[in-house]
Amino acid sequence: MGDHILTINAGSSSVKFALFSVEEGAELLVASGQADGLGAAPRFRTRIAGGEDSEDALNASNHDEAFRVIMNWIVTTFADAIVVAVGHRVVHGGLNFAAPAIIEEETVSQLRSLVPLAPLHQPHNLAGIEAALLAFPGVPQIACFDTAFHRGHAFVDDAYALPRDYFDRGLRRFGFHGLSYESIACQMSSIDQSRAKGRVIVAHLGNGASACAMKYGRSVASTMGFSALEGLPMGTRCGQIDPGLVLYLIEHEGMSVAELTRLLYEQSGLKGLSGVSSDMRALEASRAPQAQNAIDYFVHRLRMEIGALAATLSGIDALVFTGGIGENSVRVRAAALAGMDWLGLTLNHAANIRGEMMISDAKSAAAVYVLRTDEEAVIARQVIETAGIRQGSRNPPFDGEDLTRAAR
Ligand code: AMP
Repeated sequence: MGDHILTINAGSSSVKFALFSVEEGAELLVASGQADGLGAAPRFRTRIAGGEDSEDALNASNHDEAFRVIMNWIVTTFADAIVVAVGHRVVHGGLNFAAPAIIEEETVSQLRSLVPLAPLHQPHNLAGIEAALLAFPGVPQIACFDTAFHRGHAFVDDAYALPRDYFDRGLRRFGFHGLSYESIACQMSSIDQSRAKGRVIVAHLGNGASACAMKYGRSVASTMGFSALEGLPMGTRCGQIDPGLVLYLIEHEGMSVAELTRLLYEQSGLKGLSGVSSDMRALEASRAPQAQNAIDYFVHRLRMEIGALAATLSGIDALVFTGGIGENSVRVRAAALAGMDWLGLTLNHAANIRGEMMISDAKSAAAVYVLRTDEEAVIARQVIETAGIRQGSRNPPFDGEDLTRAAR
């Protein structure tokens, strides 16, 4: 089967993976899947390109065990595949990583120092890297960063109005979901080349949510900042709040750092506001007034951020919805665009309900798209470029037998 790239996206309760073959320097999806529900009711789902889907209960209580199950599945299903490189989604690259990086010992310790900036994500990303280093000794491991897409913003888009030395020390806005935004920028350039070069706002609305303003397919502003808390409300994260409120909770309610971390990262957002669920599907299905309040708040903040990003861009040529909510929620898209004609955004309701790729009306000055993000393909592409992989261009670091051994 030849050279393959494995991508790993290790989150708090799931490990997603994808296997790509490399054909003349381009990635071709062979299979993908995920171990999810880790720590609760784990499931293992797989999908073979052009073949079967499967789903089973998973006998794994932690990430290491999940990783072993994934490796075993790949080895037994694709016995001839030679994995020549592994790409990892890494949420935070800090100031030092503006591009994908080959992981060396020093890289791991640099990435570990960024854990406080992304406590919900970075430890799991690192666990995925460590598991893959063990399973694939000698195989290049590449870190692909969510922050890298946003490096190069103007000072005003990266700064907080704190004393200047805070900015110089790296206490600044970074932005996240960069792999998703790169996926959308790439798709836009083939779907609508002229608008892709113009003023594009992408709303990545999933369990984590942010929006990004782009020009020439590059990020110029993002709603997420120093940590993955700022901006839009999310499944369990608060999004924008007044820092004075945090001071109040510390001073008058005696909250500790650990309690605040739990409150802001795990108990807020849609889950906190609704008291029902962090999951948009569940909220849409719920009759509880608090569930409807939570959706209304989500949409309200989204509309505010679209307006703010449009001001940054001096207008808008295209708006793209992506992420689980952006790709699937007819209701959120319709509510976000209601009365937005002043900004040149007019919804084609029928196209929205049908879930078409283009959902703007013919009289809409700006185009509105719904595009499926593909972070795994972006990781694979970054791996190919960073490791210089072409079909047959490398000596396989190890063969199928080694892979079987590694997975045991
Ligand atoms: P993601 O993190 O990108 O996987 O997105 C997860 C979010 O997408 C959850 O809030 C889901 O409820 C939401 N989602 C997925 N499918 C739908 C759907 N058909 N309608 C509304 N929300 C959905």
